[in-house]
Amino acid sequence: MTDIPQIAPRDKAEILAQALPYIRKFHGKTMVIKYGGNAMTDPELQADFAEDVVLLKLVGMNPVVVHGGGPQIEQALNRLGKKGEFIQGMRVTDAETMEVVEWVLAGEVQQDIVGLINQAGGKAVGLTGRDGGMIRARKLKMVDSKDPTKEHDVGQVGDIIAIDPAVVKALQDDQFIPVISPIGFGEENESYNINADVVAGKLATVLKAEKLVLLTNTPGVLDKQGQLLTDLTAREIDDLFADGTISGGMLPKISGALDAARSGVNSVHIIDGRVPHSMLLEILTEQAYGTMIRSR
Ligand code: ADP
Ligand code: MG
Repeated sequence: MTDIPQIAPRDKAEILAQALPYIRKFHGKTMVIKYGGNAMTDPELQADFAEDVVLLKLVGMNPVVVHGGGPQIEQALNRLGKKGEFIQGMRVTDAETMEVVEWVLAGEVQQDIVGLINQAGGKAVGLTGRDGGMIRARKLKMVDSKDPTKEHDVGQVGDIIAIDPAVVKALQDDQFIPVISPIGFGEENESYNINADVVAGKLATVLKAEKLVLLTNTPGVLDKQGQLLTDLTAREIDDLFADGTISGGMLPKISGALDAARSGVNSVHIIDGRVPHSMLLEILTEQAYGTMIRSR
């Protein structure tokens, strides 16, 4: 943790006191946080993130972490001489890529986050969608965004059939912090690679979470001129899809966010994970950060 010498003690106390209404309001509430992937690049930011998660838990909230791993998967594929390919924001996943995805997500990224949270004084437990039969999936049928008669084969990319949150709830009740890799299982026990934002959105819904916070590597959703859009409704999102303002990884991110907002998650935010403690600022201060997604 970095010291903040330029802030007077009186102001520090004021800042702490201002968090109280939020701590009270969110006591016992579930917060689903998507981390990893592009927001997880700098070691200092990672340590800050882990501290924030532990703080939320200690003041009585129930943080649940879902992680991604785009850049980490890309690196591993490159080491094997493979190059990642994306269609409409989804990674084309052949059998070999699926193996890499599983070992990078569950073996590397998840365990890094678990270690950092534990180091910060929390009790994190890593899970994949297989654990406790949590994430049942099937092969995603991807319809072309411009031509609905055309379909893309993206391999073992999963479409979520259902999420059983029992294992997450059991861990929460026992003071553990679940850290979930977005891997689902199919009818034949086959593995599916699922976009982490989509998993986070659906999990927030089934857990009846108070908040869904998606940390990424942009200030939020940007308009055509690159300006931050602080607030977006479903209608405005449709327009941004239609005119191509939203592309790549932002497509599944917004879909996951909108899904959660429409299914009763009270507040859904896409924020900049490159800003130190951005998640804590979003949850414990009145200041708005990034883009808020509204169902209407
Ligand atoms: P993450 O690892 O956080 O999921 P992704 O690369 O999957 O990151 O998604 C975030 C990316 O989406 C941004 O870095 C940006 O390149 C891209 N993107 C596409 N359209 C937009 C937009 N309108 N506003 C912000 N980012 C966008
Ligand atoms: Mg992504």
